[in-house]
Amino acid sequence: MPTAICPECDEQVYVDPEFVQGDVLSCEECGEALEVVGLDPLELDPLVDDGFDEFDDDEDDGLDDFD
Ligand SMILES: [Zn+2]
Repeated sequence: MPTAICPECDEQVYVDPEFVQGDVLSCEECGEALEVVGLDPLELDPLVDDGFDEFDDDEDDGLDDFD
């Protein structure tokens, strides 16, 4: 099962393979609501609900690939 790192507690979070970008899950460790912001690599961001509208995904980070 794919995993990603929780941005809140740095623990591995198991992500259902059927999840797609924009889906939201909860970290089992810290309970934070996490949004799937990337699938390759799998990446999670804290779901912040501050009244912002959803924004287009324009992330283009240079994270290392883990193989
Ligand atoms: Zn967490």
